[in-house]
Amino acid sequence: MKYLDEYRDPRLARRLLAELTATATRPWRIMEVCGGQTHTLVRQGIDDLLPAGIRMIHGPGCPVCVTPLEVLDRAHAIAARPGTVLTSFGDMLRVPGSHTDLLALRARGADVRPVYSPMDAVRIAAAEPDRQVVFLAVGFETTAPANALAVQLAGRLGLENFSVLVSHVLVPPAMTALLQDPDCEVQGFLAAGHVCAVMGWRAYEPIAARYRVPITVTGFEPLDLLEGILMTVRQLEEGRAEVENQYTRAVRRDGNTAAQRAVAEVFRVADRPWRGLGPIPASGLVLAPAYARFDAAERFQATETATREDPECIAGQILTGARVPTDCPAYGTRCTPRSPLGAPMVSGEGTCAAYHAAGKERTSR
Ligand code: SF4
Repeated sequence: MKYLDEYRDPRLARRLLAELTATATRPWRIMEVCGGQTHTLVRQGIDDLLPAGIRMIHGPGCPVCVTPLEVLDRAHAIAARPGTVLTSFGDMLRVPGSHTDLLALRARGADVRPVYSPMDAVRIAAAEPDRQVVFLAVGFETTAPANALAVQLAGRLGLENFSVLVSHVLVPPAMTALLQDPDCEVQGFLAAGHVCAVMGWRAYEPIAARYRVPITVTGFEPLDLLEGILMTVRQLEEGRAEVENQYTRAVRRDGNTAAQRAVAEVFRVADRPWRGLGPIPASGLVLAPAYARFDAAERFQATETATREDPECIAGQILTGARVPTDCPAYGTRCTPRSPLGAPMVSGEGTCAAYHAAGKERTSR
């Protein structure tokens, strides 16, 4: 299969590993920002095959995991209202809030529907004008263009029964926040290829220069990751701190400018809280004034509620790379994909789910 098989070739993987071993003269700590990359690293056993001393730190790039608890609670409050249809991607329906999750609300009679695209939510709103249809819009720069297009379409159709509960976050400010933490151990980054396919990599250049940290735009297949790690280690060994692109088949420096235009028209940048990381300046998107009428939080007056994190869950430390899932006392016992205590065990991109799927065993009991 073109663009897949050639990036899973075991012979080439062995060659890249040998090159990595020959290149690395000392230990290096590299963060893969994206949860999709974490899954490939863990599922393929790449993290265990790396030369001794090269340590991968799992980053906060799971959109479900970083959605703040208060946003989930707001979505749950809206879903519980009669006459509303709460829509979102499948993973979001299982994430525990302070008290419940959307699937449990559906079992109690709420109209909660999984969708594959925000356009599906717009279609539901057009077909069912007597119901208020809300799309829970979370994610990084990757999902923002589709959500922007959905809001634009709802505007063109004159829909007054469609709105979005927005919790978009941006990757570069989160990387900056991690690097500003005095305890940060990260010496190089693998930047998420799909985020850069949309936004390009200009925003990463000042980060690489200011913090003297190499950043390699990297894809998601095993050979992408091995090559991305090798490119980053080469920079570290040579004392360079630049942005380089491993994912040339999908990413250009300027990204997808049409998608960027849609995002810039519908959203504006704002401060945002991240679950596990706390508030980060200019790290999120909110609806621009011209589209504020589509804001579900305003429409339903879904204001702050007292949130309650599960006391056992150490998701915050997992998301910053300070701990790994096997350090969590609940991992694999009280917290499993069937019965998750926290978002990193729910999401397809969550680090805890990746470790569990790979059969990694708990270390501290
Ligand atoms: S294993 Fe479960 S409880 Fe522990 S950090 Fe991960 S999601 Fe939270």
